[in-house]
Amino acid sequence: MIWALVVIALVILIVALLPVSAMLFASTSQWFGRFPYRIRTKEKLLALSFDDGPNPPYTDELLNVLRNHGVKATFFVVGKNLEKFPQLGRTMVNDGHCIGNHTYSHEFSTYFSRSKFTSEIERAQAVIADITGTTPTLFRPPWLFRLPWTMHVLKTLNLTPISAVFGYEFEVIHQRTDAMVKRALQKVKPGLILDFHDGYDAKGGYRKSTVETIDKIIPALKSQGYTFLTVPELLQRAR
Ligand SMILES: [Zn+2]
Repeated sequence: MIWALVVIALVILIVALLPVSAMLFASTSQWFGRFPYRIRTKEKLLALSFDDGPNPPYTDELLNVLRNHGVKATFFVVGKNLEKFPQLGRTMVNDGHCIGNHTYSHEFSTYFSRSKFTSEIERAQAVIADITGTTPTLFRPPWLFRLPWTMHVLKTLNLTPISAVFGYEFEVIHQRTDAMVKRALQKVKPGLILDFHDGYDAKGGYRKSTVETIDKIIPALKSQGYTFLTVPELLQRAR
């Protein structure tokens, strides 16, 4: 009950302060601490990142597309999904992709309790380590949402929060590959971390257009001279 009131109060506050919220909570905002979405560089470097998987058959298809183009990416997986589809996590690692933590259950309610938020992340870390043999150093908060105390929790857990620029803002609801390709290509600039989704929260999701979009933008961007790196590789290239 108390949490319901807290949630309602917070929602009212956020709506009332919409312009300020937009500035504070934008994916590019650094108000709550370092939250990289790009690095400063003139080199044509890019990092592709994918949230909310694994989610067959789209994650499998995406892995095939990335393999065909020789591109390594970063997957921010949901622990609960990885438990269901462990082999996909192992394929990500075997293919040389980087795996980041995107919480265990991808539920917004975890943002209202420090202990729940902490255990969500720790549980996902344990699942990822157990299944893939790698322990993430990167964390992407669901909806790119953060508050000063969540950033502090990440610090205590030795995790780096990673933001991004959405490849296509309406990816979740609007499934047109041509629109996605066009928008993503417009957004690209040197040093950017681009965000797409191979799933939808912890609920699966239809991601055919995302797979098709990635298959199209990689050759288009390679022909413009872009090189694709994982997020940790990109961060190391910062000047
Ligand atoms: Zn997500």
